Amino acid sequence: MTEDYKAEEKKSLNFLEEIVEADLAAGKYKTIMTRFPPEPNGYLHIGHASSICLNFGLSLKYGGGTNLRFDDTNPVTEETEYVEGIKKDIQWLGFEWANELYASDYFEQLYAYAVTLIKKGLAYVDDSTSEEIAEQKGTPTQPGRRNVYADRTVEENLQLFEAMRNGEYQDGEKVLRARIDMSSPNMIMRDPILYRIKHAHHHRTGDQWSIYPMYDFAHGQSDSIEHITHSICTMEFVPHREVYNWLIEQLEIYPSRQYEFARRNLSHTLTSKRKLLQLVTEKYVSGWDDPRMPTIAGLRRRGYTPESIRDYCERIGVGKRDNLIDAGVLEFCAREHLNKIALRRMVVFDPLKVVITNYEGEGEWLHSENNPEDPDGGTRNISFSRELFIERDDFMEDAPKKYFRLAPGKQVRLKSAYIIQCDEVIKDADGRITQLNCSYFPNSKSGEDTSGIHVKGTLHWVNARDCFPVQVREYDRLFTVEDPGNAEGNFTDYINGQSLQVVENALAELALKEAMVNERFQFLRKGYFTLDPDSTPEQLIFNRTVTLKDSWAKAK
Ligand code: ATP
Ligand code: MG
Repeated sequence: MTEDYKAEEKKSLNFLEEIVEADLAAGKYKTIMTRFPPEPNGYLHIGHASSICLNFGLSLKYGGGTNLRFDDTNPVTEETEYVEGIKKDIQWLGFEWANELYASDYFEQLYAYAVTLIKKGLAYVDDSTSEEIAEQKGTPTQPGRRNVYADRTVEENLQLFEAMRNGEYQDGEKVLRARIDMSSPNMIMRDPILYRIKHAHHHRTGDQWSIYPMYDFAHGQSDSIEHITHSICTMEFVPHREVYNWLIEQLEIYPSRQYEFARRNLSHTLTSKRKLLQLVTEKYVSGWDDPRMPTIAGLRRRGYTPESIRDYCERIGVGKRDNLIDAGVLEFCAREHLNKIALRRMVVFDPLKVVITNYEGEGEWLHSENNPEDPDGGTRNISFSRELFIERDDFMEDAPKKYFRLAPGKQVRLKSAYIIQCDEVIKDADGRITQLNCSYFPNSKSGEDTSGIHVKGTLHWVNARDCFPVQVREYDRLFTVEDPGNAEGNFTDYINGQSLQVVENALAELALKEAMVNERFQFLRKGYFTLDPDSTPEQLIFNRTVTLKDSWAKAK
């Protein structure tokens, strides 16, 4: 699958770009205005990244701007912490919004719009319970019916709506509904609720309001207030488009237009804030930024780059059909970018001591490229001496013929250093190998090798004298099934118990002492890593972003 993506060049416009180009060509707009409208009830996830790249991408490409509008019309679930998190994530992804706005800033204006509708005889206060309203709505095949409240006069509705605003009723006692069409084949057009009573504290307006607008009433009107030209949302809002247009028409306000694209979901994870919140509150993960989370904050901490996430969004594109993207696509994008930018370093996870018995000197400095993919990457110094560590599983006592790593009597190259040969295996009383005595070939130094010896294997290693212990956190997919959100039973039944493996006391080469959060590393032969912010000067912690190869594709 990844190969297809590699081959795929960006050749055609997506359907939204086509719409925008047609609108611009027809002279409908000079520039466009889009918006990204998160509800601040959780952190952004990889699905949101698609929407962000799409909305900001369009205004960058065609001129205009993208507003960041917090859709904060539901006081119960919203928090300022999420507002700050969302802003940080969008900026980190590399986008700049034209204006930071809040639907709650329009509450007064929205109230005035509702009054306009009442005055036009297009909205009424209904005292029915939600069960009664649902029952009176009918079914897709049977028309609904209006109740007695629909006959209230304009004056009565105005007075009741004001009383609702003034907090004179309890939650659920009354709602304001639009008078549209109780027999519309579109159930959403059957006198949708515009306002409900909710005595709740709002993160911005405090206790000022005891009524809150519903999505259908707030969203299109907010778009219109901001002169959004193309209001892009996901497919589940297709049936809402009729109400969206009806309200704009009746209110005679700026004609924003709604367009829908399919949600983009990622395999082996969840893209629902509600379920992600459950993972956090029930402590399946350490927080919203746990590196196994599909949140932008989690991906950042894991070591993903903004470039790789934008590349992913570009590759998966936009369409009209829902699809589940294989997690391998995102990992592929990470490898593509990290290969270009990651600093090469050596870390031995499970050390086995090697003594170079014929090495006489005090030690020496060798040089190794920081990144062979980057001609400007420069080199670093690595120290070499008589005692080293290699990876325990890079040695085999009874090696098969095709084993190109170290074995008794066999030769390998130590990366950026010398060719060595294993002469003697030393074991403890239990028969466990504790040390390899090797000899080296002084004329085999990397870059100036005149030894004429050909070896097939190159091993990573560290110098026993100046390497230092670090903790490595190896992450794997959080769920064992492709689509845990839609799997039978509870999604928590499918959590991968092996999704975090901690390696204590891996030995890192000296250069890693200076590692900084945000730097990306390739630990040779191991994968891509980044420093975790939990690190202290005494204990560096590295997160594995992704392995070097797609081990899942092979396993399947
Ligand atoms: P969730 O179900 O995770 O709460 P949501 O749609 O309720 O998602 P919002 O904060 O309302 O979350 O989303 C902001 C924008 O991001 C919306 O325009 C929404 O359509 C879009 N979006 C959310 N999830 C996805 C997804 N998986 N793929 C593409 N766009 C998405
Ligand atoms: Mg939503």
